[in-house]
Amino acid sequence: FSERLKFKTGASETDYMVESFNNMMDSLEGSYNQQKQFVEDASHELRTPLQIIQGHLKLISRWGKNDPKVLDESLDISIDELHRINKLVEELLILTKNEEKVAESLDEVNVNREIESRVNSLKKVHPDYTFDINLDGDEIYLKTATHHFEQMLTIFLDNAVKYDQQNKYIEISTESGKDTFDIIIKDHGIGIPSEDIENVFNRFYRVDKSRSRQQGGNGLGLSIAKKLVENYNGSVWVESEKGAFTKVIVRFPRIINRMRK
Ligand code: ADP
Repeated sequence: FSERLKFKTGASETDYMVESFNNMMDSLEGSYNQQKQFVEDASHELRTPLQIIQGHLKLISRWGKNDPKVLDESLDISIDELHRINKLVEELLILTKNEEKVAESLDEVNVNREIESRVNSLKKVHPDYTFDINLDGDEIYLKTATHHFEQMLTIFLDNAVKYDQQNKYIEISTESGKDTFDIIIKDHGIGIPSEDIENVFNRFYRVDKSRSRQQGGNGLGLSIAKKLVENYNGSVWVESEKGAFTKVIVRFPRIINRMRK
């Protein structure tokens, strides 16, 4: 193939074309492998709850008819696992959708008000936690679909709660820069080992698989949140110290940032 091209086009042009072709094939292969990995991981995640349900249905059919305790327990566990499957499927759909880059209708979300509202609802569910809110005096607006913004905040805040069961102390702040603003969520929980930090935004990545599963996690939360943040031209990163704290920093460009009446 390259010899025929060389004949037609001359050496340097051919080399260039062959190189571009090879690069294209590499990148296609890379994306194919990523897709393959994604399907494998998703199937693996689905298999666990399905196997649990299957096991409990067998228990019910053998002993459940005569033993109400077995019946109740197995039904409860099966329903929990079904919820897990439901959540997983919904999250997989979000990840695979070729996003709503510009969502149907964008809202001007008042960032500080939205944070207050999310934190107030969390306080009701977790009265034993301290949520220390420190919001920038400026009114910050972000052009985004409100439900995307809520979803993103919920993922970070839920993680802070999930992984800070010792101190139950979560700080939430906003800071305005010249062209950007930051939303910072800091918990004082188990932290993330330094070697894992670069991977936590990867799909299905969990530092401690069994701990995460116990708490209803499937390792997709942060990858979804990152996708949502990037949809609106933001960036997100994590700073952490194992056993001390985890800080999530989300940075958006200040597209709309003005004082309102
Ligand atoms: P999960 O559903 O497992 O929480 P995520 O994608 O939200 O999945 O997070 C990926 C992994 O990153 C988690 O399993 C956990 O190990 C780690 N992680 C995320 N947030 C925190 C946090 N605030 N503190 C400590 N570890 C965290």
